[in-house]
Amino acid sequence: MKHYSSYWERSVLLRKFDFLILGAGIIGKQIALKIRKKNPNARIGIVDRSPISYGASTRNAGFACFGSVSEIVDDFKRSSQHEVMSLLNKRFQGIQQLVQTFGADQIGYRNTGSYEIYTDQEEYQDARNHFQTINQLIQDYTGQANAFQWQKSDKLQMACFEDCLFNPLEGMINSGMLNETISELTHKAGIIPLYGLNITSLNKDAGGYTLIADNDLSLSCSQLIIATNAFSSQLMPELDVVPARGQIILTKPIADLPFDGIFHNDKGYIYFRNIDDRVLLGGARNYFEAEETTYDFEGSSANFEHLKKYMQEIILPGRSFEIDMHWSGIMAMGEEKIPIVKKVDDHLTLCVRMSGMGVALGPVLSDEVAAFFD
Ligand SMILES: Cc1cc2nc3c(=O)[nH]c(=O)nc-3n(C[C@H](O)[C@H](O)[C@H](O)COP(=O)(O)OP(=O)(O)OC[C@H]3O[C@@H](n4cnc5c(N)ncnc54)[C@H](O)[C@@H]3O)c2cc1C
Repeated sequence: MKHYSSYWERSVLLRKFDFLILGAGIIGKQIALKIRKKNPNARIGIVDRSPISYGASTRNAGFACFGSVSEIVDDFKRSSQHEVMSLLNKRFQGIQQLVQTFGADQIGYRNTGSYEIYTDQEEYQDARNHFQTINQLIQDYTGQANAFQWQKSDKLQMACFEDCLFNPLEGMINSGMLNETISELTHKAGIIPLYGLNITSLNKDAGGYTLIADNDLSLSCSQLIIATNAFSSQLMPELDVVPARGQIILTKPIADLPFDGIFHNDKGYIYFRNIDDRVLLGGARNYFEAEETTYDFEGSSANFEHLKKYMQEIILPGRSFEIDMHWSGIMAMGEEKIPIVKKVDDHLTLCVRMSGMGVALGPVLSDEVAAFFD
C-alpha cells in the first residue's frame, strides 16, 4: 500500500534522524544501544521490514561458542593465524560481554560447556594432532591453560568415536530471550522503532542518506548504519555477501536425555544441543551448497531428511523421537570468513556479513561501530 505523507509526519514523526540503523537483528539493536550511550540526545531510529526481525537472529541455534578444534583447523586452511586468532578473541570477548551486559538469566545463558564429537577418522586425527597447539594459542585470550580437554564420550550415548573434546568455556543461550532483552532495552533507550518497512533503495544527498521503502515512504538521516547482514547485497550488489541458509529441526520432548550442552561435529557444519527436554539440531548445508545459497526461508526436504537421519543414527541411536518443528535462518558468507565493519563515507557505515558468528561477535563489533562516532 502506497504511503502518502501528511504534514505531521513530514514535520514531526518522520523528520530527519541523526542516526538510522537499517536492520533490527541483534547486531543492529546492539549498535543502536551503543550509539545511544554515547549520544544521549540524538534522534535514533531503527528500521526493519519485519515486526520482530527476520534473518538469522531469531532463528539460530543459540550457541555461545568461539570455535571447535576442527572448525579452527579448517579456518587455518583459508586464513592466516593472526586473522583466525583475532576473530576467535572477538568471539570469546563477545560472549563474556553478552553475559555481563544483559545478564545470564535475562538471555537464558548456561555455561554447560561444549563437546566436539567425531564421526570421521580424518577429522578426529586432525583434532588429535592440533588440539595442543590450539590450546597454547588461545591461552592468552581465554586465560585457561587447557581449554580443549579429551573426554570419554560413552555417557553421551551417541554413535560417535569413544573420545570427544570438551571445552568448559562455551555454553548456550536462549535466542528468544536474547532478542527480547535487547529489544526491551532499545525501547527503554528511546530508539524509535520503524518496523514494517522494506527498504528498496538508498540515496546519498548533501547531508546524509535517504532510505526509500517499497511503499514509497522515505526516511532521511545524517548517519546511516547498515546492519542487514545476508540481505546487504540486495541493496548494495557490489558487496561480497552471499546468503547461506541454515536449517534446524527440533524434536518433541524426550524423557531422560543423557546429555546437556552444545555439540559440534563436521568442522562446525553440524551443531546440536538440548533445550526444554528436546534436541535441536541444525546445519549440514555443506552437503547442499547450491540449494542453501538462497534468501528463501522455506526449508528443503533433502536437508530435512539428512538432519533427521543424523538425529536418529548419531544423536539418538536406538531411541524413538518425533520432529516437532523445522525452520531456517539466513546467514551471510563471503570469500573471507571476516565480517565487514567499515565506514564507507562520512555518512554511511557497514556492519554486515557475520559469517555465522554474530551472536558471539555482536558486542565487540557494535563497539567498533560506535567508536567511528567518537
Ligand atoms: C541456523 C543458524 C545457526 C547459527 N549459529 C550461530 C552460532 O553458533 N554462533 C553465532 O555466533 N552465530 C550463529 N548464527 C549466526 C547469527 O545468528 C547471526 O550472525 C546474527 O544473528 C546476525 O545478526 P544480524 O543482526 O547481523 O542479522 P539478521 O539477524 O539477519 O538481521 C538482519 C535484519 O535486517 C532486516 N532487513 C534486511 N534487509 C532489509 C531491507 N531491505 N529493509 C528492511 N529491513 C531489512 C531483516 O528483516 C533482519 O531483521 C547462526 C545463524 C543461523 C541461521
